[in-house]
Amino acid sequence: MNRKTVIVGGGFAGRQACHALRKADTEIVLYDPRSTTVMLPALPDLAGGWVDEKFLFQSLEKLLPKNVRHVQKAVRSIDLDAKTLVAGDETITFDKLLIAAGSVTDFHGFDQHRDRIYHLDSLESARRIRDDFGAYLLKKDQPHVVMAGGGYTGLELAMSLFYRARFAGKPCRVTVVDPGKEILPFLPEDKRKTIQSFLAKTGITVLPETRVTGFDGKNVTAGDQVFEDVFFCWAGGSTFAVPELKGTLERLRDGRLKVNPDLSLPNYPDVFAAGDAAAFDQNGQMLRKAVNFSWYEGKCAGKNIARRLRGEQTKPFRPFDAGWVIPLHGDSVGQLFSRIWIRGKSGLRLHYFMCGFRNYNLSNFAGFARIAAKLFKKEAHYED
Ligand SMILES: Cc1cc2nc3c(=O)[nH]c(=O)nc-3n(C[C@H](O)[C@H](O)[C@H](O)COP(=O)(O)OP(=O)(O)OC[C@H]3O[C@@H](n4cnc5c(N)ncnc54)[C@H](O)[C@@H]3O)c2cc1C
Repeated sequence: MNRKTVIVGGGFAGRQACHALRKADTEIVLYDPRSTTVMLPALPDLAGGWVDEKFLFQSLEKLLPKNVRHVQKAVRSIDLDAKTLVAGDETITFDKLLIAAGSVTDFHGFDQHRDRIYHLDSLESARRIRDDFGAYLLKKDQPHVVMAGGGYTGLELAMSLFYRARFAGKPCRVTVVDPGKEILPFLPEDKRKTIQSFLAKTGITVLPETRVTGFDGKNVTAGDQVFEDVFFCWAGGSTFAVPELKGTLERLRDGRLKVNPDLSLPNYPDVFAAGDAAAFDQNGQMLRKAVNFSWYEGKCAGKNIARRLRGEQTKPFRPFDAGWVIPLHGDSVGQLFSRIWIRGKSGLRLHYFMCGFRNYNLSNFAGFARIAAKLFKKEAHYED
């Protein structure tokens, strides 16, 4: 065997690909700077201090097939025409490649005191929010969270922090600033109104059609208002995780790579993309970034690489949308099988059950199953 398959990213998609490829006649090398997995959907709960972080990760070494060599480095650049990539100081050649590096926070060029802005795309960033928000609560009698971005990550994080402050006996002001006309524009009007009224009743202010224009490390300027001494979080979207990619490519605005039905890249039959890195067109609509799609795309891409190695025809990816839930700590909204709407505690329970189900060992599953059963009763999971 002298053919080399490189997988960039060992998240939901990359790990499934490793398993799908394990019997193929190829050397398999995984590049990922992390030594563990991360259950990203539970990051807002970790940031709010509601869930023990041990339920969110597992050592990659334990999960990967034995014949996968994990190199703990980030890939800096990929050259599709030269079939090379750069990780650390090394330049590596590949025969087959899967790009599954997920996504990272997109600051859209906003660069004022970046190191003081809280964002949520990794275990480390969630820990930082948990610890710093705890310290902020101790010194502020009237805490104020300003959230740039009213998508699901922004709202989930806002609610998690709001309830944490309330639990600490501090009434917390939360302002969500979003450039769009309305938050959650993909929801039908009645569902959107329900969420908006839940937020308003809880005391969350949403400022639509407004952008954050200034941050001096403490005070935020948004529209014509200045919010002083706030806990400032950025959840304004996500973008492609590999800094440099050379080749003839079609990409979405958020950097995702347009893929063929079999998840290979147009012009590059030996290169595949899966998960948040891929833009898969289903009947004219791009699949959303989600764990389940990433999981099955990774599996399909891995099998297709194995087919290519055997000289066989690849098969198209056939996505199945089981549904989604936006958990808001005290409420939720979601949809199952593209038709059944779900709300409140049922949605929350389903979300936490899925965090357990798509987790990596029995004790992580048990941890989330317990949360799904009890939700966040005071005594259950809060840790300070
Ligand atoms: C806060 C938050 C909440 C979410 N909530 C939900 C939810 O409720 N339900 C849902 O379905 N989805 C949710 N998502 C989206 C979901 O987590 C992603 O769609 C999914 O994780 C994507 O899987 P992936 O395998 O593409 O990437 P990931 O799981 O992110 O894995 C990417 C891997 O690539 C590695 N990597 C990154 N850069 C490089 C590099 N340059 N070189 C090498 N390796 C690299 C990373 O270390 C990581 O291990 C949420 C995401 C976030 C951030």
